[in-house]
Amino acid sequence: MTMELKPLFGKVALLGIGLIGSSMAHAMRRADLAAHIAGYARSPETLDAAKRIGFADTLHDTPEAAVRDADFVVLATPIGAFGELAQAIAPQLKTGAIVSDVGSVKAAVVRDVALHIPAGVHFVPAHPIAGTEQSGPEAGFAELFDGRWCVLTPPEGTDAQAVETVKMFWRRCGSEVELMDAKHHDIVLGITSHIPHLIAYNIVGTAADLETVTQSEVIKFSAGGFRDFTRIAASDPIMWRDVFLNNREAVLEVLGRFYEDLAALQRAIRWGDGEALFNLFTRTRAIRRSIIEAGQDTPAPNFGRSRARRN
Ligand code: NAP
Repeated sequence: MTMELKPLFGKVALLGIGLIGSSMAHAMRRADLAAHIAGYARSPETLDAAKRIGFADTLHDTPEAAVRDADFVVLATPIGAFGELAQAIAPQLKTGAIVSDVGSVKAAVVRDVALHIPAGVHFVPAHPIAGTEQSGPEAGFAELFDGRWCVLTPPEGTDAQAVETVKMFWRRCGSEVELMDAKHHDIVLGITSHIPHLIAYNIVGTAADLETVTQSEVIKFSAGGFRDFTRIAASDPIMWRDVFLNNREAVLEVLGRFYEDLAALQRAIRWGDGEALFNLFTRTRAIRRSIIEAGQDTPAPNFGRSRARRN
């Protein structure tokens, strides 16, 4: 006998309906997680696109209107807007409601949001580790979170039932869930996501500024490795500006280690230390293998790009 799963929530309000917010709406529809999905964005363009696609039941141009009577409220704008949004919606939140977010940084979000959450409302911060370099409501799709991790960072003393509910929500969106301390999350994501983005932004910027190599050569010969950085460096500038402004400490700490290791590589190249280079490149290859074994990427060569396609 299969058990009928009822919608987890009556009304869910998504504050921000770009890549992540709209993907959540699609995933919620797929798993029947909400009786009513309300969406908020500032611009008529975003609201019109969301209306055309039809992933929300109601659309609002103020956050206050979107959260009225909501059981679950998710902050899904760039992180820099979270504090103001939390302050604006606080008087509208109903007792027993759960507020969550999807921000890529956690300690600063907890700092900026928690102080606005009224008594009787539960705050369960979350970060789905899933995304693409696209943004906006048209970029969303239901499968985005399938097989990906979602990290919850509830501050000490958070209502256990609210945490369970948010866990259940993400599981039914297709994710696996892990709990973590917010500061630890910021270090882990610093090395796995934020620094790689910084390196990509930097290398693409450097290539654009090199005097000895022309722009057309950079583009023409990009298949040599450069184009994989350009995918990451095409990520939303506002979102990533806010990530670095809000994860300053962890990023600077990891960057310090990165500089040291880069200097060691520089020295190995200068002194012709092939063994050091070989040893590192062998270790890194094993890490790639572990990522594939963990189901976090495709084993297909060249990320599964068609062999027939011209490079
Ligand atoms: P996005 O596609 O650019 O969407 C942002 C949404 O927020 C849009 O609906 C936008 O509509 C609205 N918005 C933008 N600026 C706003 C502001 N200042 N105040 C209120 N609303 C604003 O962004 P996203 O990729 O979905 O990212 C949203 C959040 O998810 C970020 O906090 C990010 O850290 C987190 N996240 C992203 C990824 C990723 O790979 N993209 C992965 C995990 C988590 P209007 O401009 O019309 O208001």
